[in-house]
Amino acid sequence: MSTQSESARPLVEAINVTKAFHGNEVLKGIDLHVNPGEVVCLLGPSGSGKTTFLRCINQLETINGGRIFVDGELMGYRDQGGQLYRLKDKEIAAQRREIGMVFQRFNLFPHRTALQNVMEAPVHVKRQKAATVRADALALLDRVGLADRANHYPSQLSGGQQQRVAIARALAMQPKLMLFDEPTSALDPELVGEVLLTMRELAEGGMTMIVVTHEIAFARDVADRVVFMDGGVVVEQGPSREIIARPQHERTKSFLRRIL
Ligand code: ADP
Repeated sequence: MSTQSESARPLVEAINVTKAFHGNEVLKGIDLHVNPGEVVCLLGPSGSGKTTFLRCINQLETINGGRIFVDGELMGYRDQGGQLYRLKDKEIAAQRREIGMVFQRFNLFPHRTALQNVMEAPVHVKRQKAATVRADALALLDRVGLADRANHYPSQLSGGQQQRVAIARALAMQPKLMLFDEPTSALDPELVGEVLLTMRELAEGGMTMIVVTHEIAFARDVADRVVFMDGGVVVEQGPSREIIARPQHERTKSFLRRIL
């Protein structure tokens, strides 16, 4: 939920981002800005480049052209007089720590409890004291509604619960930005709601979020803005209710007709 004035510096600013895989250009000049506290949903047909774009923001993919800034910092590169130099792996890892990402598959450590999964990065990456991390991790599990599951292993949790642990794990690094890549599409239908509710609460708490999803009701009710992508370009974007109720572009209209 947007709380900042329009004049605030965007937390995410992507300028003319291009990305190709083996000569096949899948992002053809994406421009996007996301203000602090804003929730943006990326919609569009399969193969339109949504996941790739999200992965580019988080440096899981290297862009071929354009620039991505997160909180004013150029991602992946140093700009020296207009010349770009790739950052060292360590510097990129430091940038990535500021961004939380939740994937379709939760990828929890199977031999660690929910609590240990949430504590892992603050203890081993940030080298924070275990006692502090433990208290913070328990508070995060409570926040995602899983205080009573702290000592359960992933195999003892439902898919929805595992995904909520994955959200708590990402939050444990106190990210500036959360990226969600189809976080509910691997779940049984009856488990989708609890994960969307957790995401909604996170949004209401002021977290800046970019969410790739096919959950149109979530996009309409929770996102401030939707961005519709097709064929590696942004076709249309605007306030979520407006775009979903009255899409202007033919490609957006036919996508929404198919999905609703
Ligand atoms: P979406 O998230 O909208 O479904 P993706 O970003 O996953 O779209 O994919 C966009 C295009 O990029 C697809 O044609 C996909 O096959 C291709 N692609 C994605 N990742 C890779 C990769 N690692 N290697 C080659 N092609 C890829």
